[in-house]
Amino acid sequence: MHHIEQVYINGEFVSPHGTERFDLYNPATACVIGQVRLADAVDGERAIAAARAAFPAWSKTTKQVRIAALQRMHAAVAARHDDLLEAVVEEYGAPASRSAWMASYPAEVIAQAIAALEAFEFTTVAGAARVEMTPLGVAGLITPWNSDAGFICGKLAAALAAGCTAVIKPSEMSALQTQIVTEALHAADLPPGVFNIVTGRGDTVGETISRHPHVAKISFTGSTRTGKAILRNAAENFTRVTLELGGKSPTLILDDADIKQAIPLAVQAGLMNSGQACVAGTRILVPQSRKAEFEQALALAVAAVASGDPRDAKTVVGPMVSERQWQRVQGYIQKGLAEGARLLAGGVGRPEGTRDGWFVRPTLFTDVHNQMAIARDEIFGPVLCVIAYRDEAEAIAIANDTDYGLSALVLGGDSGRARRVAQQIQAGRVLVNTLTHEPKAPFGGFKHSGVGREMGAWGISAFMEPKSILS
Ligand code: NAD
Repeated sequence: MHHIEQVYINGEFVSPHGTERFDLYNPATACVIGQVRLADAVDGERAIAAARAAFPAWSKTTKQVRIAALQRMHAAVAARHDDLLEAVVEEYGAPASRSAWMASYPAEVIAQAIAALEAFEFTTVAGAARVEMTPLGVAGLITPWNSDAGFICGKLAAALAAGCTAVIKPSEMSALQTQIVTEALHAADLPPGVFNIVTGRGDTVGETISRHPHVAKISFTGSTRTGKAILRNAAENFTRVTLELGGKSPTLILDDADIKQAIPLAVQAGLMNSGQACVAGTRILVPQSRKAEFEQALALAVAAVASGDPRDAKTVVGPMVSERQWQRVQGYIQKGLAEGARLLAGGVGRPEGTRDGWFVRPTLFTDVHNQMAIARDEIFGPVLCVIAYRDEAEAIAIANDTDYGLSALVLGGDSGRARRVAQQIQAGRVLVNTLTHEPKAPFGGFKHSGVGREMGAWGISAFMEPKSILS
């Protein structure tokens, strides 16, 4: 059993004022594997005060001092790779393909921030003005459970690069990953108060951060619903926000696509991270003229996806993170059937050969129209919809007929045409015939998928305000 009893404030592990114990589960067994003592609003206030006290000195540090600090963070987080790997399998159920990435990404994203900081111009000239990029102040960093360690490191590295200090409120469900990252960051020997980590509930610690007049910036990754609540709270103090929210991304297969190349990419895009990915391509748009052919190939591919024990090397889809998430996925599969969609693979219940854990059957529906709940709502599980379109214009219209706009994938034989289609899709990131991730590019969403961008110079600028000086 894991017992996590302390939070991290002002450079020290301390017992929180909060006394609530929150159970941690292994989603592959549905068994309790530990408990975390949660911070409360008082701890949130203390962490903000520590970050505020550390801001004047940190904001005046040179680029070289910040790069050196980020390099120490990078080395310390990289050294905990194996511990992170075990934690993401144990508390999260990440299968091999995902867990390897989740264990290495936290250090990688710090390295990306170092490269961005090295190239960052803090002072530029605009006409007669000298424009100085100025750090905003204390940053509140709020992360979700689906890649907790990576989001902590990415947001913190960008905030510190900009000269901000930080209060981090990680997801209460990812306390093992948070503990490992906190120990690593402590070992990086940054000045006390520059970063503080208080694991607690969203409606206590999260609300304290998003309403606080001494927090100048919120960087949040999580659901669109919580993002709206944070935006409302932030309005009171004009707190700047970056919001990375949900998605219902389209995979648009053009009529000239090579089926052998398109199907593996479409299935991988839809089922990444066991379907629990903000960028998952869960709406697969196929040409009416080739509908039967794509249905058959997709059905075979989804039915062949191994869902079960994350420690089995063959597993592609691991368990859902919680019983609540499992119930939500079951509910949407039932809703799809009730709405008249036709099941091509999967369905309700657990996959054969699994028991106890929160395992789901990778599921594929067809005869879906874009107004059905399964085509509109972010399910956050391995449930894919096939939607047929008549022509390219209708395909683009369906792709854009969503509240979200985080990511999209276009698959087609003529790459020039596929790129022209990509340009017409309203999403922060559109991939054409590839699933490659480019960490140097800005990341974020259109519409209800968020506000602002992370990564690269965009990510650092998000923690700053330009100041024009004329003399
Ligand atoms: P969530 O919104 O429930 O929680 C995210 C974080 O917000 C947690 O730390 C939670 O405790 C906190 N929180 C909850 N209520 C709060 C409040 N009122 N004020 C402040 N903080 C509060 O999201 P989740 O279930 O942890 O994560 C899944 C969601 O995250 C999905 O919708 C997914 O699409 C989204 N997500 C988006 C991205 C992206 O980059 N766009 C990446 C990963 C996940």
